[in-house]
Amino acid sequence: DLKLKNITHRYGTVEVLRDISLDIPQGQIVCLVGPSGCGKSTLLRFLGGLERPDSGEVLQIGQPPKDCLNPLTYVFQHFALLPWRTVEGNIKLVLEDHNLKRDEMEAIVADVLERTRLSDFRDALPKQLSGGMRQRVAISRALAVRPAVMLMDEPLSALDSQTRELLMDDLVSLWTRQPFTSVYVTHNLSEAVRLGHRVIVLSRRPGRVREIVDIDIPLAERHLGHAVLEEKQ
Ligand code: ATP
Ligand code: MG
Repeated sequence: DLKLKNITHRYGTVEVLRDISLDIPQGQIVCLVGPSGCGKSTLLRFLGGLERPDSGEVLQIGQPPKDCLNPLTYVFQHFALLPWRTVEGNIKLVLEDHNLKRDEMEAIVADVLERTRLSDFRDALPKQLSGGMRQRVAISRALAVRPAVMLMDEPLSALDSQTRELLMDDLVSLWTRQPFTSVYVTHNLSEAVRLGHRVIVLSRRPGRVREIVDIDIPLAERHLGHAVLEEKQ
């Protein structure tokens, strides 16, 4: 589990976040929604340890998963791929500092590419891929380090609506096959409700928790239910 306790933060004289406490249970996707500027990305930076809040605590409880190479990874809106590296090269980038044996590294790359349906694009450069595929590369790269938590900051916002739909299905299937823990920032409420086990609504100036909504039917069941409904039709 990952916990935020009583986080308060100012930039200059502006109180950005006030008394935020959150609980991110293992294996769940927790979506953060709220208006632009309410402090969603700031909260993710605190969770990722990229920045420290003025007050409050970020706690990581329990053991990271077996073979975990990096407890926290990011997926950003604009993919953050190196343009001169192939798909494979971009994934290996995060594996290079971990003293892995060559065949271990190859196995991880093959596994994450298979899970994101990119096996045939191993040698492609980012510019040869569509936006949705580039984001799948970024997701593969995040999965490759077997993180305890994936921090996702508007991962689908740069994509057109059709690609966004497809990627949402991809995320659901990925999660169904192998549940991951994620804090998922979006300002799209329907996306949050579709993907999240829990949706946290923040208000702005200062950013506070306005509402916590637990989505009753877990993601995987909804996904399976969907398949069953399709079969019946
Ligand atoms: P968006 O939906 O537009 O991405 P957000 O909810 O992610 O917004 P943040 O980026 O976390 O919001 O910013 C929250 C507030 O803090 C904003 O008013 C922003 O201008 C301010 N802010 C963020 N980072 C800094 C910084 N490094 N220095 C000063 N102010 C900052
Ligand atoms: Mg943001």
